[in-house]
Amino acid sequence: MSSTELMAPLHADMTAWRRDIHAHPELGFNETRTADLVAARLESFGIEVTRGVGRTGVVGTLRSGSGRQSVGLRADMDALPIHEANAFEHRSQHAGVMHACGHDGHTTMLLGAARYLAATRRFDGVVHFIFQPAEEGLGGARAMIDDGLFQRFPCGSIFGMHNRPSLAVGRFAVRGGPMMAGGAFFDIRVTGKGAHGARPETGVDAALVAAQIAVSLQSIVSRNVAPVDTAVLSVTRIHAGDAYNVIPQTAELGGTVRAFTPEVMALVENSMRRVAEATAQAFGATAQLQFRNLFAPTINDLAEADFAARICTELVGADRVDRNPPLIMGSEDFSYMLQCVPGCYINIGNGGEAGGCEVHNPAYDFNDAALPLGAAFFARLVETRLPA
Ligand SMILES: [Zn+2]
Ligand SMILES: [Zn+2]
Repeated sequence: MSSTELMAPLHADMTAWRRDIHAHPELGFNETRTADLVAARLESFGIEVTRGVGRTGVVGTLRSGSGRQSVGLRADMDALPIHEANAFEHRSQHAGVMHACGHDGHTTMLLGAARYLAATRRFDGVVHFIFQPAEEGLGGARAMIDDGLFQRFPCGSIFGMHNRPSLAVGRFAVRGGPMMAGGAFFDIRVTGKGAHGARPETGVDAALVAAQIAVSLQSIVSRNVAPVDTAVLSVTRIHAGDAYNVIPQTAELGGTVRAFTPEVMALVENSMRRVAEATAQAFGATAQLQFRNLFAPTINDLAEADFAARICTELVGADRVDRNPPLIMGSEDFSYMLQCVPGCYINIGNGGEAGGCEVHNPAYDFNDAALPLGAAFFARLVETRLPA
């Protein structure tokens, strides 16, 4: 019997768990009910549980045989500040909070794998089931790492999975090397000299300087980043002035940068600082850049990506595993775990053949049809990596 078939008896239970989590979404670092539920389930499977790792994180540890090799499997638990538009019975019970990224499904698939592995124990070694809080921009992965995650629960390799609505259920996408972009937010504060709107010669117009900076910043990706590299620089906020007859003394620009390597991210940051400061100086103003790296690029280990792809192929066949999917400009904080331990992040299909509702949309819902396959991926991965 294949492990997908072995997961079939768990499908009804997993669907119930998933819908329960969906109905009770919690924002990052507030996942107390979800963490309680995860911990109680793991304990009921006979798995050792550690609570409060990185505030609301939970780690389950399962040993089988005498092997000392270990694998980490990670799922995220947090929801988003979105008001759910769905009307089905398991819709969010909390106004303004919603599982719109499918982390309810990710948590459930890892719980399904944990139940299967605890019951069958056809492996030799240690598995750490890592339930991470606060993936959506609040630094949950870093919180767990800073709390000693990999010292307290050493992992020889680590794997994570995100659903993708544009990919049909029953399919996987996995690639070695860069997969998702690193992300940064920036603010630029321009300081000129305020003046009467009719007497520009007595001031330094911060609005004009900000406009010049916004235009000049667009030369960075086209002229400083190599054409074969990929980066985005978007100025998404510009604020200056309050009155029709006052030349503003200050102006603020803000936006986001995405890139796939720390080198390109640093190149863009350094170029932005040079362009902003020198442009301001050319007009007799000053500019200060504040650049905040929020997500590292998600870079899969080549060998571990190949290993993960082989597990996917075993489950669904080579024609349903995309080994060369396009780069994703979105970001993911599992990237920080991949900086500590070699591993791989994969995508599992969550849509119909025409694709499903995109994540971060108020009409999104995780597709329960994907649950057994995701659980089977984690289970087969452990049985193959830690053979009995
Ligand atoms: Zn998300
Ligand atoms: Zn997500």
